[in-house]
Amino acid sequence: MQSAQTTFANLRKDFPILQRIVRDNKTLVYLDNASTTQKPNQVIDAITDYYRNHNANIHRAVYALAEEATELYESTRDKIANFIHISNREEIIFVRGTTEAINLVAYAWGRNHIQKDDIIVTTEYEHHSNIVPWQLLTQEKGAKLVYIGMDDNGELILDDLDKYLATGKVKLVTFSLMSNVLGTITDAEKIISKCKEHGVLTLVDGAQAVPHMPVNIEKLGCDFFAFSGHKMLGPTGIGVLWVRKSVLETMNPFHGGGDMIREVHKYETTWNDLPYKFEAGTPNIADVIGLGTAIDYLTKLGMENIREHEIELTKYAIEKLSQVKGLTIYGTKDISKRGGVISFNFSDVHPHDVAQIIDEEGIAVRSGHHCAQVLMERLNVAATSRASFYIYNTKEEVDSLITALTKVARIFKL
Ligand SMILES: *Cc1c(COP(=O)(O)O)cnc(C)c1O
Repeated sequence: MQSAQTTFANLRKDFPILQRIVRDNKTLVYLDNASTTQKPNQVIDAITDYYRNHNANIHRAVYALAEEATELYESTRDKIANFIHISNREEIIFVRGTTEAINLVAYAWGRNHIQKDDIIVTTEYEHHSNIVPWQLLTQEKGAKLVYIGMDDNGELILDDLDKYLATGKVKLVTFSLMSNVLGTITDAEKIISKCKEHGVLTLVDGAQAVPHMPVNIEKLGCDFFAFSGHKMLGPTGIGVLWVRKSVLETMNPFHGGGDMIREVHKYETTWNDLPYKFEAGTPNIADVIGLGTAIDYLTKLGMENIREHEIELTKYAIEKLSQVKGLTIYGTKDISKRGGVISFNFSDVHPHDVAQIIDEEGIAVRSGHHCAQVLMERLNVAATSRASFYIYNTKEEVDSLITALTKVARIFKL
């Protein structure tokens, strides 16, 4: 048995892009994993293998290739069920990503469950994907969208939730399990149990959590759960929406056509069984297969080990960054309450300038509002720089970031 330490040290060779030379002969230091992660050979090969050897449309034809493609596609559904701990594979719907998953809920659930004066609760640290679909829905219905506030530690103020629940008008509470800007891990079990006491449904945006820590949906007890493949070593354009069956059965279709149909007549159509009722048209077969391989890869590493690896890196990075004069780190310093996402500002240097200068050293960090402008307003900043880690990142890369930041300090005479 290899120790977790050696496993993590060895896995960089699986990622061809990490050998890339960028800019002026610099080795790539990729620290933008909250945006998307790099892909290992295993995932790249699974996709090309599908196109080279198994390509066919799924579910209908009886010939060999079609059976193989269907088997590969459907086996990913089982892998997902195991990975996020749910017992019913019919509750798993393939979508393009978290954004589409949340829009699907807003449309196919929201349009026939939300009425005038109903309340939908979200939080101040949500990604735009967990705000805008609810704005569209509440505006259409004359309903109301309200926000759970955030304290200066980057944690949610749950008294706000109690206040909203007491109105008796809340129909849905929706929140991310891990903030993509602050890394805050939400106290989901507490929120969900409060909601359950009031018979209120909950949606969890798992886009940042699922790639970085063990997630057990059965234990969480939410009603909707969304995540994206591309933030967990998988390809772009594929993601998952899980919906509790009793809720899924109350939902109308999202898109019409193809696989979602049982019978079509001139003026009426009957729907296919779950989950196919929600998978209209030829799906993204290749990338579903790629996602299945990504899940194999993560499972082999162990989500507990991944979380531990990131805790160690994050702790190290926060220690080092805290020593940089003039640098402000946002969010809690309590490592047990945050994932490997660190947003910061460096004196009054604009984050785009920070990103551009350290890019010359081959370091990729994100700068901007990170699709969370409500949070930027709350923090009273226009933008931040954000370094975010994954399984292949190392302490040496954190050191490279720190060295590059001293160059920023030199240029701006900080
Ligand atoms: C990335 C992200 C999203 C959006 O995911 P897409 O893959 O772009 O659809 C939503 N919520 C959070 C917390 C994210 O990090």
